[in-house]
Amino acid sequence: MKRRNLVTGGALAASLALAGCRKETGPTNKNTRDLKFTWKMVTAWPKNFPGLGTGAEFLANAITTMSGGRLTVKVYGSGELVPAFEVFDAVSAGTAQMGHAAAYYWKGKLPEAQFFGAVPFGMNANEMNAWLYHGGGLQLWEEAYKPFGLKPLPAGQSGVQMGGWFNKEINSKDDIKGLVMRIPGMGGDVLSRAGGTPQALPGAELFTALQTGTIDATEWVGPYNDLAFGLYQAAQFYYYPGWHEPTACIEALVNQQAFDELPEDLQQVVEMATMAANQHMLSEFIASNQRALETLQNEHQVQLRQFPSDVLQEFKKYAAEVLHELGQHSELSQKIYQSYKTFAEQTQKWLAVSELAYLQTR
Ligand code: CA
Repeated sequence: MKRRNLVTGGALAASLALAGCRKETGPTNKNTRDLKFTWKMVTAWPKNFPGLGTGAEFLANAITTMSGGRLTVKVYGSGELVPAFEVFDAVSAGTAQMGHAAAYYWKGKLPEAQFFGAVPFGMNANEMNAWLYHGGGLQLWEEAYKPFGLKPLPAGQSGVQMGGWFNKEINSKDDIKGLVMRIPGMGGDVLSRAGGTPQALPGAELFTALQTGTIDATEWVGPYNDLAFGLYQAAQFYYYPGWHEPTACIEALVNQQAFDELPEDLQQVVEMATMAANQHMLSEFIASNQRALETLQNEHQVQLRQFPSDVLQEFKKYAAEVLHELGQHSELSQKIYQSYKTFAEQTQKWLAVSELAYLQTR
């Protein structure tokens, strides 16, 4: 029905154009191919930072090229147009039409957003994408961002992250007490319950904070990104696994009004390019992490350590509490929490007889 209307609309526009009295109003305009748009994309990462910044560039290039130049997207690194943690507000206000960040950065104004960034001991990248695209997750995310005039789109996954960089060994849960660590989102709340002090700093500030001792530890992403920041020069012990971020879902934020102004085909370009960027980023991280880890170990003498199991058990216990409490925060967060939890439980059953069984077998 919709397609038919568009065809009719297109034919009408064409006949009006032929008659020399083309009108640029109403739904007819939706299909027009001569409108040109230029969007600014503000990001929470240094420009061209491996994986994240390059992911933003990939997305911007894909949209620009796939639209045949009808929608040009220009990327701004953190601090170029707005600071990293102001991306959400800038896109909401229309200062930029698009943003590239992670949802848990907005926990101060929208606690529910954390479900769409990373959940400690939660779903991994594949599970997260399954929930977002096929489990109702994206609709809930849209509902959460709607009051801000924003349309969220999943635009990348980091895969399982590393636990972080520590300037001392973590041998028991007592070593967490008093620890000042940069760790965002719910992971920070978990650390706090375990006796640590979480800090939220944008990526670009991590190295100096760790080197000067402002923080004792930091997590960032994984070997590929952490090597690029030179974090091995500021701390020696590199812990795994990234219990707090089984994946970080990277978001593309789109100003809803700017999106609505696009013809339907360009809206599709934005959505499809974002899906491609989502897969592209995950592949890039998987392909690059082991290579970077070897460089860290062999060239920079980084000490790889696994968190002791009692520390992980402690984190897991607090993570369940934090998640449950966040799930009670509002009516919306109740809905998101239930959806997330139910989907995660269901998927885990399937993964037990597929991915997990396979990984244990090969
Ligand atoms: Ca991280």
